[in-house]
Amino acid sequence: MSARTRFAPSPTGFMHIGNLRTAIFEYLVAKHDGGEFLLRIEDTDQNRKVEGAIDFIYNTLDLCNMKIDEGPKTPGEYGPYIQSERINIYKEYAEKLVEMGKAYYCFCAEETLEEMREYCDRKKIPFMYDGRCSHLTKEEIEEKLKNGEKYVIRQKMPKTGVSVVHDVVYGDVRVENQVLEDQILLKSDGYPTYNFANVIDDHLMHITHVIRGNEYLAQTPKYNLLYEAFGWEAPTYIHVPMVLGSDGNKLSKRNGDASFMDLYNEGYLPSAIVNYLVLLGWSPATNEEVYSMDDLIKNFDVNRISKSPATYDIKKLQWFNHKYINMLSDEEYLKFVRPYLTYDVSNKTEEWVNKLLTIYKDHLSYGKEINDLVGIFFNDDINISKENEEFLNSDESIPLVIKTYKEELAKLDDWNTEKIANVISIVKEKTGVKGKLLYMPIRIKISGIEHGPELPDEIYLIGREKVLERLS
Ligand code: GLU
Repeated sequence: MSARTRFAPSPTGFMHIGNLRTAIFEYLVAKHDGGEFLLRIEDTDQNRKVEGAIDFIYNTLDLCNMKIDEGPKTPGEYGPYIQSERINIYKEYAEKLVEMGKAYYCFCAEETLEEMREYCDRKKIPFMYDGRCSHLTKEEIEEKLKNGEKYVIRQKMPKTGVSVVHDVVYGDVRVENQVLEDQILLKSDGYPTYNFANVIDDHLMHITHVIRGNEYLAQTPKYNLLYEAFGWEAPTYIHVPMVLGSDGNKLSKRNGDASFMDLYNEGYLPSAIVNYLVLLGWSPATNEEVYSMDDLIKNFDVNRISKSPATYDIKKLQWFNHKYINMLSDEEYLKFVRPYLTYDVSNKTEEWVNKLLTIYKDHLSYGKEINDLVGIFFNDDINISKENEEFLNSDESIPLVIKTYKEELAKLDDWNTEKIANVISIVKEKTGVKGKLLYMPIRIKISGIEHGPELPDEIYLIGREKVLERLS
């Protein structure tokens, strides 16, 4: 059977880039093997649920060029794909475990648990449910159920021995069974815990590889005991290292760390984001850095996922994004960048706007940045700094150069970059001035600053009227 993987987010309406990276790894493991990629919505914590979150997840994965083979909107044979619609399934399997003696009803009230916690605090031992309800007799249980007492179902852990789980990235993970708590599988409201639901769902959905954040690694022996109890085969586990922010902390929404949509709205291309994220914690066998989705599918190898945490670096993402922007055709580029331009261009021609945007194609790191780059073409007042003022007075050729530019530019009947470039040559010839003394004075006079795009482009875009006025 080829690989089947699942992305299992909570419907929070927010796609953290660490989450997205997990989804990419999951997608690549499935597709590298010609298999299927599933979406399962883990909404058993109903408080975190956000309207429209499922559309949002589909939309995000779609933008990133990852097709969901099975999921809530594209069901396959193993649905429902939303956990809150699978409540009866969890109940059925939890009760099966009780029958098999691998789980038990626990009627302990919150106060009883509180006492246990206090006891552990006093003894300075980590809190762990003491398993008292596992000793209830059949009659006691029936009586309590009959009286409608609230209960949870807990997994009965072995009290001796060692459990070993193999993880592709981290190797063998061993735990002493005596430290495993009889964890809750089904809560008193009938909802499963993540710890239970993930096992039931992964099995029933025929998941072959579980890829998730390494915060779940320590819990995995418990999951394996559930697989064993049911006599099911456990999936291959691939726990991936965390993504840290530049401050060394785990990336989180609370810290204001970027989500996919934030980046997308700033003008990062999904293909660049994917390319960047996949290299956070995974390294290809070659030095190549730029990968299309097809290349990634071909080359992805789980054995090259690193154990060490990866650091999210916006500068490196910008480097990728810049590369991807450059790979766009001019037409694609204009379509991409145009919506980010916030300056009022209602009195400009389309040709002018396109020319302006195009000259920055080589400079742009992300869409919104265009506004930081093009300011000189929209300012009505220019400011010449003291240093630049001094420069303008620093050589006796400068007034002549400026005067010649003005005369020659005024003569042009066609205002285009070719003609303007020609004027520059004429000024050079007529004045005998070249290099910095030929270019800088006009740049400073017409824009206030000493650098900018190619001079003919700059003159053209500032426009005849303003150029002649500023040269006066
Ligand atoms: N809902 C879990 C999460 O978002 C999924 C973990 C898993 O992939 O098993 O962290």
